[in-house]
Amino acid sequence: MEGRQMIKVNPLGTGGAFTKYYHNNYIMELGDRKLLVDAGTTLRSSLPAAGFNYPDITDIIITHLHADHVGGLEEFAQRCMYLHQYKPHLWIREELSEGLNNTLSSGLCTDGLSLSDYFHVHYVKDRFRLGSHYEVELLPTDNLHAKNMLSMGLKLYDTQENINIIYTSDIGKHEEAAFDTHMDENTKALFHDISFIKTPVHSYIEDVIAYYTGKIELQAIYGMHYADDIDITETEDKYGIQIVRTNLPIVFKK
Ligand SMILES: [Zn+2]
Repeated sequence: MEGRQMIKVNPLGTGGAFTKYYHNNYIMELGDRKLLVDAGTTLRSSLPAAGFNYPDITDIIITHLHADHVGGLEEFAQRCMYLHQYKPHLWIREELSEGLNNTLSSGLCTDGLSLSDYFHVHYVKDRFRLGSHYEVELLPTDNLHAKNMLSMGLKLYDTQENINIIYTSDIGKHEEAAFDTHMDENTKALFHDISFIKTPVHSYIEDVIAYYTGKIELQAIYGMHYADDIDITETEDKYGIQIVRTNLPIVFKK
C-alpha cells in the first residue's frame, strides 16, 4: 500500500488530562506506516475503540512526558511483547532520551530487559524518514507548554504528494512557539491545542484566534485537547476553525 499517497489522521481521543473520555492521542497513517503520536493512560481503551490492534502500530513518538501522553506506553510495550511478540519502532527525541528512559525503565527494564527488547529504538535529532516518502520533523517547544519541561510539536510530510501538516501537541505559549512560521504553501492543516479556560499550559481559544487571524486561513486550524463539555458545532461556527472529533479520521491529499 506504499503507493497510497496521503496523510490520514486518526484521532483516538481529543480530551485533556482530566477527560472522562480519551486522551489527545493520534494514529497518523503515512502510507503503510502507522505512527502513534503519544500514548496516554487511556490508550488501552482508545486503541481498540478506534478499531486498531497493537501490531497495527508500526511506529511511536512521544511529544512530552505528561501522563496523558506517555502514561500508557509501558502497558503498550508489554502487550506488544507478551501478547503479540511484536516490536514496533520507537522514535525518541535525543533530548528526551534520559527522561523517557527514566519514565519507562522501572516498569520495563527488569529481568535484564532493556528498551531495545521492546522497541526498535531510534534517537532523533530533528527529523526522520518513514517509509519511502514520508518524513517527520520535530518542532521543539521546550518550556512553552510547561516550565522546565521538554516538549515538541511535529511536522509530517508526504514528500511525494508534496503536502504537510503541523501538530502542536500541548502548547501554552503558542505566540512564542509561532507555529505559523513553520507553515508553508503546502501545509494543509494546523492541529492546535485549544483551551476554553485560561491556563498557563494550554492555548486559550480567543488568543489562538487573535494570533492567527490575518496570518493563516482559520479553516486550516483543527482544534484539539479541549474540555469534554464544549459544543463542537457551535465552536466551529463561532470561530471559523475546525474541531477534531474522536474517531473521525481526516484525510489530507494534494
Ligand atoms: Zn501536557
